[in-house]
Amino acid sequence: MSSEYVELHAHSCFSLLDGAATPEALLDRAAELGMGALGLTDHHGLYAAIRFSIAAQERGIHPIIGAEVTLEDERHLVLLAETQQGYRNLCWLLSRAQLDHEKGAARLAWAHLPNHTQGLIALTGCRQGVLAAPLLAGDRDGARRQLAELRALFGAEHLYIELQHHLRPDDDALVAGLAALAREASLPLVATNNVHYARREGYRLQQVLTAIHHNAALRDCRNRLYPNSELFIKTGAELAELLGAYPEALAHTAEIAARCQVDLNLRALAIPPAADTGDADARLRALCEAALSRWYPTGEAAARAQLRHELQVIGQVQLAGYFLMVWEIVAWARERCIQVRGRGSAANSIVAYLLGITNVDPLEHNLLFERFLSTETRTMPDIDLDFCSRRREEVIQHVYERYGERHVGMVCNYVTYRQRSAIRDVGKALALPQELIDRLAKSQGKWGLPAEELESFAVSTQTWEQYLALCEAIQGYPRHLSIHVGGLCITAAPLDEIVPLERATMPGRVVIQWDKDNVEDAGLIKLDLLSLRTLSAIDECLTMIQTHYGKSIDLDALPLDDPAVYDALQRADTVGAFQVESRAQQQALVQMKPREFNDLVIEVALIRPGPLQGGMVHPFFRRRQGLEPVTHLHPLLAPILAETMGIIVFQEQVIRVAMVMGQFSAGEADLLRRAMSRHRAEEEMARFRERFVAGAQAQGVAAATAHEVFDKLAGFASYGFCKSHAAAFAKTAYDTLWLRAHYPAAYYCGVLNAEPMGFYAPRVIVSDARRHGVAVRPVHVNLSGAICTLEGGGEGLAIRLGLQYVDGLGETGAERVVAARPAGGYVELEDLCRRTRLPRRLVEQVILAGGLDELSAASPRRDRRGLIWELGRLRYHEEALPLPLAPDGVALEPMTYAEELLAEYGSTGVAAEGHLMELHRERLTRARIGTSQTLARAQHGERVRVAGFVAVRQQPPTAKGFAFFTLEDEWGLMNIIVRPQVFAAQRTEWVGATVLGVEGVVQRAHGQINVLAERATKVK
Ligand SMILES: [Zn+2]
Ligand SMILES: [Zn+2]
Repeated sequence: MSSEYVELHAHSCFSLLDGAATPEALLDRAAELGMGALGLTDHHGLYAAIRFSIAAQERGIHPIIGAEVTLEDERHLVLLAETQQGYRNLCWLLSRAQLDHEKGAARLAWAHLPNHTQGLIALTGCRQGVLAAPLLAGDRDGARRQLAELRALFGAEHLYIELQHHLRPDDDALVAGLAALAREASLPLVATNNVHYARREGYRLQQVLTAIHHNAALRDCRNRLYPNSELFIKTGAELAELLGAYPEALAHTAEIAARCQVDLNLRALAIPPAADTGDADARLRALCEAALSRWYPTGEAAARAQLRHELQVIGQVQLAGYFLMVWEIVAWARERCIQVRGRGSAANSIVAYLLGITNVDPLEHNLLFERFLSTETRTMPDIDLDFCSRRREEVIQHVYERYGERHVGMVCNYVTYRQRSAIRDVGKALALPQELIDRLAKSQGKWGLPAEELESFAVSTQTWEQYLALCEAIQGYPRHLSIHVGGLCITAAPLDEIVPLERATMPGRVVIQWDKDNVEDAGLIKLDLLSLRTLSAIDECLTMIQTHYGKSIDLDALPLDDPAVYDALQRADTVGAFQVESRAQQQALVQMKPREFNDLVIEVALIRPGPLQGGMVHPFFRRRQGLEPVTHLHPLLAPILAETMGIIVFQEQVIRVAMVMGQFSAGEADLLRRAMSRHRAEEEMARFRERFVAGAQAQGVAAATAHEVFDKLAGFASYGFCKSHAAAFAKTAYDTLWLRAHYPAAYYCGVLNAEPMGFYAPRVIVSDARRHGVAVRPVHVNLSGAICTLEGGGEGLAIRLGLQYVDGLGETGAERVVAARPAGGYVELEDLCRRTRLPRRLVEQVILAGGLDELSAASPRRDRRGLIWELGRLRYHEEALPLPLAPDGVALEPMTYAEELLAEYGSTGVAAEGHLMELHRERLTRARIGTSQTLARAQHGERVRVAGFVAVRQQPPTAKGFAFFTLEDEWGLMNIIVRPQVFAAQRTEWVGATVLGVEGVVQRAHGQINVLAERATKVK
């Protein structure tokens, strides 16, 4: 290939808002032209390096990794990585360029180059390049000086003078000038085309991107645009026409390409050595064996065998160090009583279970280790950890301290163009009328506008079509980077030699230039340290149980068959529980009637938008209820799909089917699963299909059946859920239900302190707590803590709302009230003001919340209106001391119960002891409006009228225009279904009301009661 031209200077869409082609599009074009290699040189970044390398290898193209930097004097320089050392230097230099300057304004200081040029090949860049720029400015001596400097830095072997010809009037002269400088300095030439799009027609999108970059309309930034459309991938012949006088410039491209040999499988740099010396494999084995006797006291042979198998695989792929690392983090958290649970595919592993990383027994639940790890896996396995949301930051800090700042980085997220953002940005660049843009954006891309309407906007059909095409083309292009919160990349070698670092949008934070897929593909370790509010609730609940009952609960040791849990599940009594509390889940629960833990696992995997849309849920329930026979497409599938009645519910089943029917190896099957979940190219899927059908036929399965099975697998792939993940979540759901059943006061209290979380507002949680026999008491300046607490003793424990529930008080205000409180409690309103110096508005909120109703058991109940009056008379300011107060003899009408109740809702969002519907009850009863109690007794088909406080209002996109309401009254929740036409007819009522009356027909199915609404009525 040495005599052939290859492109060494190409920008992809990861030259943000400049390059107008995806890395794959560039490679496809190169492949079409028969180019053996292609160089990627995005501005200040290696964002696409991994993706580009993989896609290049798939196309048989040799990838060259480089970048174009802007120096501090605004001149450009292209750097190509020739060796691994060169790659490390490139990462380091790009990190400096990014971190030395503000986000989005990277500049490389010349001063960083010495000692960091080894293994790099420098090209002198475009018209803004280190040589062309001074030449174009007529500064030939300046150009000579720069060349001498570069030569000293890179050496004559690693420096090429770059020739570009874009048919501009002065290009001939520029090229001649550059060639003369090269001759003078005896340096070689190289031809490039500064590619910004794959084919000529890409220029239009490139211009639009430039306009978006400068936040201007195209017509207002003409002088910033390239003047023509020559920046596409050209053939050697096309370039030879322009640079024919310098054939060596073309020939050198292939020589350089052949010199650049960088391997981006960085796995060897991934795992930090365990701090304690010694054999990682032996250490891991010892830890697991020690735990084995705890979890499998009878010394089950199956557990030993599985452990042996996993340790052997882990040893073979050299991942013992990785497991030890995660174990260390988990152990550290546990020692500090920070709730932690592994989720995701790690729960398939007995090693993870024994190390305490996950808390689901993979043997008992028939989980598949190969979904997590196999000897054929090319990437690191994925371990995600959930932490108590309040304390996750401590864990992240610990990881930084343990491995060092230079070895830990936050994984980034590429914020890419979607329909809405594309419509807005492209529309602005094309200077289309704002109203038109808004309408298209609101129609959510329901493209196409009648010609006459376009005319009224003075927009031609042609412009309109171009607009739509550009919007389509730009989708998926990266717009900027954000942080993947909690996603950490940990490396053995310093991070800035593995991947460039840059500033995050969040001030003071640094991210690596790769997202989680890139990190995974590079063979690096990615740890997701996620935060889960439910774990905060559990955490607090356990502490309260310890304090008030003197019991320490080990959730990991709970048997999974407590009838109280299944009883609640079957009745869909799940408010406040993890995962299974939503309305969709509740509706499913009454049909599913979970009897054992595995039912809960299926439920968690099944009730999600994907399977609902995919139409899997109803067949499953029909089969479960015996309304439809359980059938299998082929007898080979029966043992795999038996647990889910012949329906594919778990990713593990995809793997097993691929192995059993398609005769895939475990690793191959996992590759298939991965390809499906990442929406890989059709050709790749076609290859898998071919392979699958061949394997099935070899076992005598008919080709048609094999194709049908593969269709099912592929159809499922887009929303597949892994069983281990569902099991991990089901375990957390189980724990929350168990705690709620046995320690309701502590559990609800924990939930109230972890808000906002889950599906329901705190006021619904409060009512639900009361329905479960837990008294809730209002905020009290002398009895409340900053957060909700338990008071009373034994079975009579009640929840005392925390001061933080008072609107506006926040953590600081609430803590101030607690800290300034004298031993005997506040004695007067004046006392509270004097000691806390809270802003007056907040004192008012405390009064309205009922916080000063009864300062002590001995003092008489104070009226809130009177207290507000008194606050006014105090002439209280935060700064000034209040004046002593004499009674003024004004007698105010005390607040009514209704006023007090509304004041409490207003101030705290919850009513500790009352319910809003009480205020309407008398009238409702007179009007013969039913309640949740009468509804519970209503017959199927019966016409009813009910009313309640709107607890939840939902219009899920999956529901085809249906709306769902959950109404609450003093006794319980009521489910309302509103058909699209009913909703449209009374939109204002449905959307606006806090308290809603509904007239409709009762639908009873599988023990669930819904009211199919016919009309909304006013309750007032
Ligand atoms: Zn440039
Ligand atoms: Zn360039």
